[in-house]
Parts: sequence; structure tokens; C-alpha cells
Amino acid sequence: MIKYKPAIVVVSAASGTGKTTVINRILEIEHGLFYSVSATTRPKRPNEKNGKDYIFIKRDTFKKWIKEHKLLEWAEVYGEYYGTPKEPIEKALSLGQSVIADLDVNGMKEIKKHYSEDAVSVFLFPPDFDTLIERLKNRGTETESQLKIRIERLKHELANAPLYDYWVLNDSVEHAARRILSILHSMESLSSRLSPFKIHL
Ligand code: 5GP
Repeated sequence: MIKYKPAIVVVSAASGTGKTTVINRILEIEHGLFYSVSATTRPKRPNEKNGKDYIFIKRDTFKKWIKEHKLLEWAEVYGEYYGTPKEPIEKALSLGQSVIADLDVNGMKEIKKHYSEDAVSVFLFPPDFDTLIERLKNRGTETESQLKIRIERLKHELANAPLYDYWVLNDSVEHAARRILSILHSMESLSSRLSPFKIHL
């Protein structure tokens, strides 16, 4: 019997693109999909839940996790640490569940290195850049100086777009979510990734 092979889709976007909303919609549509919850040292935003959006931990704990090889990859973003716990992803894959991860460019590169043909990367673009800067300001979750750093980082983030396998435009949440899912489904069906099998006539 042939089975689809679980895959890992890494989604990155410039800050404020609406990536979290798109990922949440994907998870609503595709029930079996596993969301990789990152660990971070950054403070929790009011709308976030520990264990669901991130695992919020102290710097000491983060460093301990690095030493104990509990993270598949980690990076420092905006002066805070972010990392991908290894065990939950390994478990999901072993159960045949595909995984979606929201990572920056370094995280994407590490995941691609680690999982090679089992991983696919998607860069999500905002519909236009004025909207992006407006959204970033309206979110009101960052201080003025944090906002400045994020806007500066925009250019840097966009320069990485050519490194991704696929580009998806966030023209609407529904369109973007469906398009990313179609990329994931293609990966799961890719003949070169499936176990060889014999047909007996
Ligand atoms: P935010 O603080 O806005 O939630 O995330 C900041 C940035 O960190 C985003 O670009 C996000 O994709 C990235 N990020 C979140 N989790 C991880 C992770 O586990 N590893 C890496 N490398 N980047 C992450």
C-alpha cells in the first residue's frame, strides 16, 4: 500500500505580512497538520498563549536547551532567541503527520539542510509594501524603537526571498492558505519521495 509521505513546509515572511493569520487558516483547513511551536525568550504579547503560539522560556533555559541538543535550529532575531524544538517534529513525522513551521531565513536553511528533500520553503509576500508598513504600525505591539528596527529589517528579509522554493502572495488569507496547502500536498505526493512499490498484474 502506498502512503503519502509527510513533509515539512517552512513559511517565512517579512514582519507584518499576515503570516500568522495565514498559518492559522491553514491549520483550520488541514486538521492533521502539525504546527511546530517555537521556543523563544521574547516577552509574550497579550494575545499570545504559552505553548500554542510559542513556548516562552528564560534565556538560561534556552541556553540549556541548546546544550542538550533539544533544538533543531535556533537563531537570534531582534535581540531575542528563537528555536525549533526537535522532539515534537520528529514525533509528528513518525506518526505520518506533515509539519508547518514559521521560521526566519536561517531557520529555513537549517531545516532544509536537516530534512533535505522532505522540506519545502515558502516565502509569503504582502499585497503591497505600504499596506505592510501600515499593518506593522497598527499592530501596536512594538515600541517606537522596536518598530524602527523591524522596518529596517524589512529590506534584509525581502532580499532573502530568492532563496525560497516558492513565492506566495498574501492577496487574501484564503488564497494564500490554499496555495500553501497545494504546495504541501504536491510535496506529499511527489513520486521521488514515495517508497518504491511493485505492481503485480
Ligand atoms: P515574532 O517575534 O514576530 O513572533 O517573530 C520574529 C521572527 O522570528 C519571525 O521572522 C519568525 O519567523 C522568526 N522565528 C520564530 N520562531 C523561530 C524559530 O524557531 N527559529 C527561527 N530561526 N526563527 C523563528
